[in-house]
Amino acid sequence: MQAIDVIIVGGGMVGASLALALDRSGIQTALVEQQALQPCSLSIHDPWQPRVSALTEASIKLLNYLDAWQGMLTQRVCPYTRMIVWDGEGTGEVAFDAKNRAQKNLGYIVENKVIRNALLQQLARSTVQCFGDQPRLEYQLSGQGGEIILSNGEVLCAPLLVAADGAESRLRQLSGIPSNRKDYRHHALVTTVETERFHHHTARQVFLDSGPLAFLPLESQDGRHYCSIVWSLLPAEADRIEALSDQAFCHELERAFEHRAGKILKVEKRFRHPLCQRHARQYHRQGVVLVGDAAHTIHPLAGQGVNLGFMDVAVLTDELITAAGRGDDYFAAHILDRYQRRRRGHNTLMMAAMTGFQNLFGANDPGIRWLRNTGLRLTNRLPLIKDMIVDQATGLSNDIPEFIR
Ligand SMILES: Cc1cc2nc3c(=O)[nH]c(=O)nc-3n(C[C@H](O)[C@H](O)[C@H](O)COP(=O)(O)OP(=O)(O)OC[C@H]3O[C@@H](n4cnc5c(N)ncnc54)[C@H](O)[C@@H]3O)c2cc1C
Repeated sequence: MQAIDVIIVGGGMVGASLALALDRSGIQTALVEQQALQPCSLSIHDPWQPRVSALTEASIKLLNYLDAWQGMLTQRVCPYTRMIVWDGEGTGEVAFDAKNRAQKNLGYIVENKVIRNALLQQLARSTVQCFGDQPRLEYQLSGQGGEIILSNGEVLCAPLLVAADGAESRLRQLSGIPSNRKDYRHHALVTTVETERFHHHTARQVFLDSGPLAFLPLESQDGRHYCSIVWSLLPAEADRIEALSDQAFCHELERAFEHRAGKILKVEKRFRHPLCQRHARQYHRQGVVLVGDAAHTIHPLAGQGVNLGFMDVAVLTDELITAAGRGDDYFAAHILDRYQRRRRGHNTLMMAAMTGFQNLFGANDPGIRWLRNTGLRLTNRLPLIKDMIVDQATGLSNDIPEFIR
């Protein structure tokens, strides 16, 4: 049996970044993942990956601290300097511009594969013990962390186990942490499209009766322009749109997007994700602590999911290293309580905001429609309110640890 300080289960974007952050702080860490953990060689000419993330400035600061951001900059990343949101059923529109905040941009759109690969490259240079290709783990929880039995029978044990194994987290379930679940009644269709017009580094989102449709800018290649789209739809509408031929899909998308990208010239393979809000009622129990989607999943309409996960990583690292620095048990319940207090309230607020947006824009009532259009137009004329929204969107106005400020 090998004793380690912390074992992280799940080497997605969140688990991999936590492993690196703890390693930097001298905490002995193992990362266990069902898929491979070797970085691959990516080329800027590879086909587009369907899943992308809109990274906030706070997340970029964390990735920079982990030395992963520089690697991403050599791949396909697309800064966005403007964000436009409008009501597809009305006249309200609001635009946010980095220029007004004396910032270079509002964030970056990056393919998830590029983010994860840059983290895996750094892991390969770290002292984290990586155990990839582990499809069937066995767990023995001890009441203070526990043991993990690998496919070859090897046993790892630690007083702190981290569940970073995504929305359906098995470790969360085994530890008996209950989770609230609410179906958003939306399915997201995601894909990449080639557009006639250049996006001018602007992220656009239209709220339609059936749900929000986002066009996220991607890097242009050989004079061709691309956007990643996330189209949230009621399930029956998603069935209909998913079944369309590529040509009919492009026409439907052009119309829904009010031709703001010009013609949709080409569409890649479409993928569908049912959307569901989940929130763990506790973030830790008996030496098992949750981060990222294992703790919470949220509607992608504000592109916050992985950004919340990265801030879980930053705050949990902060609490663990502060405790270890004082000579306290970093795995003690009162230390993990501090992590829970700093993150759960914030994540709850973000979820409430997404539900509010969904209800506001999903309402057909003429009074509510008038109110939201007036609200959008008013917000557009109030620079102070817009600044506050941008500060929230960058993540920098929240409780983020000193080491990444
Ligand atoms: C359509 C859509 C669009 C989105 N857009 C955005 C966006 O623009 N911006 C944003 O911030 N977020 C966005 N999100 C959310 C974001 O993708 C997630 O929050 C993020 O991927 C969560 O990362 P994670 O590492 O916590 O979990 P995951 O990515 O799910 O990773 C979990 C890892 O654990 C591994 N694993 C699972 N079970 C086991 C096991 N038993 N043993 C070992 N390993 C295991 C998996 O293989 C995986 O590698 C979007 C989500 C959706 C659905």
